[in-house]
Amino acid sequence: MRVLHLPPCRVCRGDLILVNGEHPLPRDAEGGDLVPAGPGAPDVLLERRAAVSLGRLMDELDAWGSIVPVSGWRSREEQERLYAQSLRENGEEFTRQFVARPGCSEHETGLAIDLALAGEEPDFIRPPFPDRGICRRFRQRCADFGFVLRYPAGKETVTGIAHEPWHFRYVGVPHAAVMIQRGLTLEEYLPFLRDQSAREGGLEYTWPEGRAHIVILPARAGADTRLQVPEKGRYTLSGDNQGGFVLTEWRRDHAG
Ligand SMILES: [Zn+2]
Repeated sequence: MRVLHLPPCRVCRGDLILVNGEHPLPRDAEGGDLVPAGPGAPDVLLERRAAVSLGRLMDELDAWGSIVPVSGWRSREEQERLYAQSLRENGEEFTRQFVARPGCSEHETGLAIDLALAGEEPDFIRPPFPDRGICRRFRQRCADFGFVLRYPAGKETVTGIAHEPWHFRYVGVPHAAVMIQRGLTLEEYLPFLRDQSAREGGLEYTWPEGRAHIVILPARAGADTRLQVPEKGRYTLSGDNQGGFVLTEWRRDHAG
């Protein structure tokens, strides 16, 4: 085993950070390794690992040209502008439903992307992403590439955001698949993992290409957290932006 020393700020970095009205993204966690979300969209940026996964999914579906990236990473200042503009143009009720307050938008993480069906009427805040054709196929396959539909219908009271069929969030593999299988939003998945970790020492997830063990561990407040990780073998680590770390250990090789 190897011991990692993780500084407190590491809690608000990684694929599984929860960012919403109650859990803002700290300013020092903004931005990262941002790259274009795809060919033909040089101004829409994503964290590199999210962009790579999106590219593989779009390649597999041959969806470039049919589905276009509309909005990816936004700076705090951009979110402030967008929020103020929406308040002016759409009023308070609409804005509260569809536009997150500055600091509370997932777009500031670089892990969220709004997509639109090409050729439809462009709408920056509510891009068209119908439940049919290529858009439906995208939604059906996205979990295998680490993406989830972040604001599903029926979960408005949990997420605090109206149903947004166009907004996808990268949470990584296999977390996206677990969330879809269990019908959990990110607001629900993290407490579920905490519960599983407390009662059973974590969650074992098996799929055709491999097996993973997922556990969530509390961070030390105000000091470095020491975390044991395997010497050999693959693992991923993410903060949860709620005072914990999600450690995912791959039990054997996987294709994701
Ligand atoms: Zn969005």
